[in-house]
Amino acid sequence: TGIYHSLIQLEGKHNIPTTAHLDTATFVLSHFPTMNRAESRVAFIDAATNRRVTYGQLQRSIHSLAAGLHHGLGIRKGDVVFLLSPNSVLYPTICLAILLVGGVVTTANPVNTEKEIIKQVVDSGAKLAIAAPEELHKLISTNVPTLVTNRYSNGYENELSVEELIDCCESMVLPENQTTQSDTAAILYSSGTTGTSKGVILTHGNLISMMTLLIWAVDISSAKDDIFLCFIPMFHVYGLAFFGLGLLCSETTTVLMQRFDFQGMLEAIQTYKVNNIPAVPPVILGLVKYKGGGYDLSSLRSVGSGAAPLSKHVAHGFRAKFPWVDLKPGYGLTESCGAAGFFVSSEEAKARSAASGGLFPTFSAKVVDIETGVAQPPYSEGELWLKGPAVMKGYLGNKAATNATLVEDGWLRTGDLCYFDEDGFLFIVDRIKELIKHKGYQLVMSYSCRLEDEEAGEVPMAYIVRETGYELSEDQVIQFVAGQVAPYKRIKRVAFINEIPKSVAGKILRKDLMAQSKQNIRSK
Ligand code: AMP
Repeated sequence: TGIYHSLIQLEGKHNIPTTAHLDTATFVLSHFPTMNRAESRVAFIDAATNRRVTYGQLQRSIHSLAAGLHHGLGIRKGDVVFLLSPNSVLYPTICLAILLVGGVVTTANPVNTEKEIIKQVVDSGAKLAIAAPEELHKLISTNVPTLVTNRYSNGYENELSVEELIDCCESMVLPENQTTQSDTAAILYSSGTTGTSKGVILTHGNLISMMTLLIWAVDISSAKDDIFLCFIPMFHVYGLAFFGLGLLCSETTTVLMQRFDFQGMLEAIQTYKVNNIPAVPPVILGLVKYKGGGYDLSSLRSVGSGAAPLSKHVAHGFRAKFPWVDLKPGYGLTESCGAAGFFVSSEEAKARSAASGGLFPTFSAKVVDIETGVAQPPYSEGELWLKGPAVMKGYLGNKAATNATLVEDGWLRTGDLCYFDEDGFLFIVDRIKELIKHKGYQLVMSYSCRLEDEEAGEVPMAYIVRETGYELSEDQVIQFVAGQVAPYKRIKRVAFINEIPKSVAGKILRKDLMAQSKQNIRSK
């Protein structure tokens, strides 16, 4: 039929719940340990402070904050709350509290500029914002009521903090939850296949199905007492679905880093005897290149790779250097609520270095020829289309983009070029959408192009046609762009050319530009 199905059928407790009235937070909380175990089992360890939070403490904080959001700040079903913070134990607490009162979570990268933040606050229709103290200034001009995450001694002592709200709402009762699985739970921003950043609408049903898949994946691939390390940002679907929600359903312990830093990662692995790290390709490359040897990394058992392509030689290099560690590349996107490709066993992964796993349970796929639109058999390339209960509802307030992306009865066009082998393993070959993946982060190629870079995966590059008579230097272009965007979106290279190659229809031929730049760099 030209349709690929996951070879794995979920059974018994791993079936996705079909109850209509169910919200993500109630689902996650129902998996928390109870009684004495809740008070002793550690959910998070803050790597910076060594502070430990048990499942019992986490549950009480979520309830208190939910009560505070409802009774104190009037958050009701469907109200959007904007969250701007680096990773912290408060991050999942805030997300789950918002979801528990039927609110909608929207997240952003804290390094985004004020302009980018304001745009998202307006686009998402946020009724409340919650920000880390150091990011608060970016929200002042929005006029949206704002809470700080935690008390801070420099300047924001007068703002109400999430921590205070938790403390003062402990005994308040929550109203009955009216949320259904088809209600919106999160709006995460992604550029999709074209154009600027758009709000990906993920329903409670989407998140609950992804949680169920993650519970299954953890059950089959981790030891019960595995310690996980999290530096993947929770504003991104990878961090949110995995660490903010999913792992909490499996009673795991996660060591939390505010943000990634290589040395900090090595220290955390050694100090907390970390077993499991869901990572991104630049981190894997860093470990391959790491020559220090001063840290004990023998506790590591499994390292995942997602969010961007992992090259075959980096995968080989990693396996040669860390033969005791399972390396498991995966594939996913915001629009599929995270993982869609996943390896069940490390043997499967080892045998296919360039693959990103088989289809995650519940997903179906088509590989559609870009020219003819015909679904392809194994080993033939085409655009990957995905279908399943985790696939997004659409883009917020953008019918045109939704209709162009969710096609023919709910198939999600991923914008990724791929093929399947005859055993059903997925190979991502290239990207046909206007997207750059810099260290796993998204940026859109509205005025730029991507240039492959060993460390970052890809970096943005500008192609400029100078008008005759005008002087413009590479440095001026780099400085101009740097003033407009978040640091990871800054242009790293500039090429001055005579003409931008365009198709007959006027579309920029980015492939030609990228091929040209590769050649120029090689000949330098
Ligand atoms: P995001 O929505 O930020 O998660 O970005 C999703 C995009 O990242 C995908 O559509 C791919 O282009 C890219 N991506 C994610 N995982 C992989 C992978 N394993 N191999 C190649 N590209 C990937």
